[in-house]
Formats: sequence, C-alpha cells, structure tokens
Amino acid sequence: MLFDTHVHLNARQFIEDRDETIKRAFDANVKYMTVVGFDRETIPLAIEIAEQNETIYAAVGWHPVDAIDMTDEDLRWIEELSSHPKVVAIGEMGLDYHWDKSPKGIQKDVFRKQIQLAKKVNMPIIIHNREATEDIIQILQEENAEEVGGIMHCYNDSVDYVEACLDMNFYISLGGPVTFKNAPLPKEVAKQVPADRLLVETDAPFLAPHPNRGKRNEPAYVKLVAEKIAELRGVSFEEISQITTNNAFRFFGISET
Ligand SMILES: [Zn+2]
Ligand SMILES: [Zn+2]
Repeated sequence: MLFDTHVHLNARQFIEDRDETIKRAFDANVKYMTVVGFDRETIPLAIEIAEQNETIYAAVGWHPVDAIDMTDEDLRWIEELSSHPKVVAIGEMGLDYHWDKSPKGIQKDVFRKQIQLAKKVNMPIIIHNREATEDIIQILQEENAEEVGGIMHCYNDSVDYVEACLDMNFYISLGGPVTFKNAPLPKEVAKQVPADRLLVETDAPFLAPHPNRGKRNEPAYVKLVAEKIAELRGVSFEEISQITTNNAFRFFGISET
C-alpha cells in the first residue's frame, strides 16, 4: 500500500477523468493521497475531492509563483479552512525563483505569513522549493518552523542541505525526478535520507516518472518512484511502501482506515 503525499487531482488536467484516475490509483494499491490546493480555484476543489473520498486528504496554502495575488482575506480563508476535518497540512508554500511573476520580497513575505499561520493553527507545512533552498532554510529557521515540522516536497537539491531540514523536524519527499536518467541529486538523497523521514509523491499531473516522463503524471505512478527508491537503497519495494506510508500517517496525523 502506498501514500501519494502530493498530488494535484484538482488540476485542470484531470477535469475529464478525475474519478477514473482515482480508481486507477486505488487499483494500483495507492490507497491514500493528499491533494494540494494552492490558490482560489484549486483549494475548494482539493477539499471537495477529500470530502468525496474517505482515504483522500487535502492541504491548503498559497503557491509562491502567485504570491503577488494573495490578500489578507485569502490568508484568513486558509486559516478558516484549516479546521476542516480533511485538511491535514498548510501548503504548498515556499519560494520559486524560476518564474518571475512574483518578486522575491513578496514571495518571502507571503511564505513567512503562512508559516506563522501554520504555527497559530498548529499544523505542519508543505514546502515548494525551486532554486531557492538556502533562502527557504533560512526563513524556516528564523520563523521557528520546527515547532510544526513539514515536508520538503519533490526535494531536488544537494544532499548537503538535508541535515538542516531534518533538524527542523522536516520530512523529505521524493517524486518522479528520482527515476530520471540524468538526475544524480535526488538519487543520492534517496540513498541517504533516514528511513523514518522519507516520503513519496507524484506531484501529478507534473513530473511523470520514467518511463512516462513527459506525459501527464497520475497518482498510480507513485509506485515507480517507490520502486526506484527501493532499488537505490537495496531494500524491497514492500519495505519502502510500508515505511513511507507509515511516515505519511504519522506526519499527517492520520490513522489507517
Ligand atoms: Zn510544488
Ligand atoms: Zn504541487
């Protein structure tokens, strides 16, 4: 049994066949999922999908690419939603230096506000990081994010930064890139992260694992991620499945149904 800890079933790409996609995941023994909302459109849909499926949960936050659009009202709305019984984390939030829609200063401000909100409502956080690892770690440290802990989602940087994340009660989640041929960084991370801090995800519809790279990703494919991690660590697929699923239950505060 697997837990896809980061999936966008609420994305436009699944409008036509969301129910079939969820069924394919369940049939592939991906029994649990956390659907991540990140703006005004995707947040209500994440919650709706979680309400309709017993083993699907939701995370609510504001994406750094769109930080410039977030209002105080949006932040209050996220705070209200955090008490919904199927909402298990605040995020995704963080910094994204690849796209330049939102200036870095605004991204940092919106990131800090969401960490503070997570601490106020006592919920863990999900971090989106693109080309911004050092700034993210600095802000997490300055805001005492270790009080709530979190996930470094689709971690894709050097293993050198992992220790600082572990020190702040963070989990490291690996996705499709660990299966890519020219991707040494996530492979090294997959080998070195302590077993009790490892999670798997798809980030579907993005980042489909090999051999589906370039196609639309879907939660059933998290199996390919877990298989690659098992191979890299020299353990069985069953062991990785069990460990990462138990880690996800512990992180999200979910008991097996
Ligand atoms: Zn992300
Ligand atoms: Zn995402």
